[in-house]
Amino acid sequence: MSSSAIKNPVFGAQYIAPTYGERPLTLVKGQGSWVWDDSGNEFLDFTGGIAVNALGHAHPVIQRALQRQSEKLIHVSNLFYNEPQLKLAQKLVNLTGPGSVFFCNSGAEANEVLIKLARKTGANSGNSEIITADGSFHGRTYGGISATGQQKVKTGFEPLLPGFKHVPFNNLGAVERAINEKTAAVMIEGIQGEAGIIPASSEYLVGLRKLTHDKNCLLLWDGVQCGAFRTGTFQSYERILEENPAAANFYPDAIAMAKSMGGGMPVGAVWIHEDLKDILGPGSHGSTYGGNPLACSVALAVFHEIEEKALNKNIRNIGDFLVSELTSLKDHGKIQDVRGFGGLIGMEVLGDAAELRSRLLSKGLLLAPAGRNTLRWLPPFNVSQNEIEQGLGKLRKVL
Ligand SMILES: *Cc1c(COP(=O)(O)O)cnc(C)c1O
Repeated sequence: MSSSAIKNPVFGAQYIAPTYGERPLTLVKGQGSWVWDDSGNEFLDFTGGIAVNALGHAHPVIQRALQRQSEKLIHVSNLFYNEPQLKLAQKLVNLTGPGSVFFCNSGAEANEVLIKLARKTGANSGNSEIITADGSFHGRTYGGISATGQQKVKTGFEPLLPGFKHVPFNNLGAVERAINEKTAAVMIEGIQGEAGIIPASSEYLVGLRKLTHDKNCLLLWDGVQCGAFRTGTFQSYERILEENPAAANFYPDAIAMAKSMGGGMPVGAVWIHEDLKDILGPGSHGSTYGGNPLACSVALAVFHEIEEKALNKNIRNIGDFLVSELTSLKDHGKIQDVRGFGGLIGMEVLGDAAELRSRLLSKGLLLAPAGRNTLRWLPPFNVSQNEIEQGLGKLRKVL
């Protein structure tokens, strides 16, 4: 009898909609890079809540922000300003560039704003088409699955939102051929996350920016997974372009953010370039919870901690170390490729990634799946070198 056949059913699982399939653990507490399950087993957690837990688990700075803000205001709606929202908007503009910020609660919602921005900009000229990349992932709303360049998220849900075209990623010629007089925007992830951690090349980004300028359409950036310092820079284009002199002053027209910026608190945002800031005018969009004081005060605390402790530098160095260690493990024949930066590293394996993942789990290391045959290392930005070495030790044992 296989071990899964004799596993006790998890009490309560029958009440949960089966969208995520079976889950291997019930987690009950965490501390930094570590989590514990309901049987007291300890795990090194490099799934990071899928690129969310920038400061790890149970961080005192987040605890304090939650405590202090909840004593004042948790929610007031956008009928009013609130101080944490004003401060966080200013912070995001300072980190990005001249523009303004719309707040929401998740990555998919942030991408909805990108899509609405493109449609509204194009409305004047009759342009409505949005070009996105094969393999991309933009969330599970109707806009998100329509934009996503993967058939598996669309099947069974037609009719989808019309007006999306998918082209191969990192292929400027393909975008050039797809752009026509109906194109309103090109939308990409700087580093494709769900597809298996595939960074855009610097030539592709520079070329896309020039092409979209020339064709008078928007360049929209899904920075949900690769943003908020995960790669060591605030946005991944800064990291990808840092050695490309042709890229000075590169800006997308709008950037979707979520995941790491809340450190675990649901918060999303869209930075909109100042040239476009009047497109979504009064009454054009909204969110009841978006920009609530509790979520914004946590995001501010996360950014403050990253800056004060230079955690962007830490995660950058950790990522460089991890890439070089994993690359040297290629000799075992099991690891095919290593991609990414900072706390967003993809390890492509030969054979069954799911099986490797569950063997690592049984050794106490949690990694996240990505694509068909890639496992993601998504450690918090304050992870120590020693913890990464412990994770590598577990991997070596399994290999
Ligand atoms: C996770 C993710 C999303 C969706 O974010 P949610 O918060 O799950 O809605 C969108 N785009 C990218 C690139 C993502 O990684």
